[in-house]
Amino acid sequence: MTLRFSPLFSGSSGNAVYVSGCDMQLLIDCGMSCARVAGELRAVGVSPEDIGGILVTHEHIDHIRGVGVFARKYRCPVYATEETWAAMEEKLGAIPPENRRMVRPGEDFFLGQLNVTPFPTPHDAACSVGYVLSTPDGARFGLATDIGCVRSGWLDAVRGCAAVLLESNYDPGMLQAGRYPYDLKRRIQSRKGHLSNDDAAEAALALVHAGARQLVLGHLSKENNFPELALQCTMSALERDGAAGVQVCVARRDGNSGVFTVSAEMLE
Ligand SMILES: [Zn+2]
Ligand SMILES: [Zn+2]
Repeated sequence: MTLRFSPLFSGSSGNAVYVSGCDMQLLIDCGMSCARVAGELRAVGVSPEDIGGILVTHEHIDHIRGVGVFARKYRCPVYATEETWAAMEEKLGAIPPENRRMVRPGEDFFLGQLNVTPFPTPHDAACSVGYVLSTPDGARFGLATDIGCVRSGWLDAVRGCAAVLLESNYDPGMLQAGRYPYDLKRRIQSRKGHLSNDDAAEAALALVHAGARQLVLGHLSKENNFPELALQCTMSALERDGAAGVQVCVARRDGNSGVFTVSAEMLE
């Protein structure tokens, strides 16, 4: 049994990831307009009508911009923590009660045979989560973005995933020298902000030691990062460590990054 995923948009301007497995097709976040997300789904051969649910990480606009319209147009349920629901409700518009689903951080649930685990993330949102999706035979994909610091809680949740979409938001030097106001710089760097390229490299090493074979770096800052920098930072950490056989790439900001396949065998 395999999982497939495709980052459709990734970056501070908007995020959406397509994931499928065990006959379920899902979105994690829908942070661009419904039309643009539907367009990228079609571009990777998926009909938006077949999306069976949207898993929401948190209420920031780059994650929920298209959630309300998409959920209404394609009549699919929306999953989020209770606190996230409260914080995003007004921005989403009306979602029929039967399509409002609650998730609890740390409590897994099944969509068909697909196991979904929302796990808590340190971020300046009401109650943000990342997600791990796994098939009964152990193919696992983890999404870990919008995370303020590398620490055991979320890292343990994604340990053992063969493929991870990992945040690599900013280059510390570019952020320091850049034109963001002081308060925003502090917010990004805080323990509830975003992961720097160095943080991503540190997390990548831990994940690779636990068996990860496909890393997709994502949620890059437009102002304070370059794809080449993010890639080089994680790649050189893995090289220094002698890690072999690991695929690393950077998700595109403005469109899909292709479709990735995850199987349990990748971990062996
Ligand atoms: Zn974000
Ligand atoms: Zn955020």
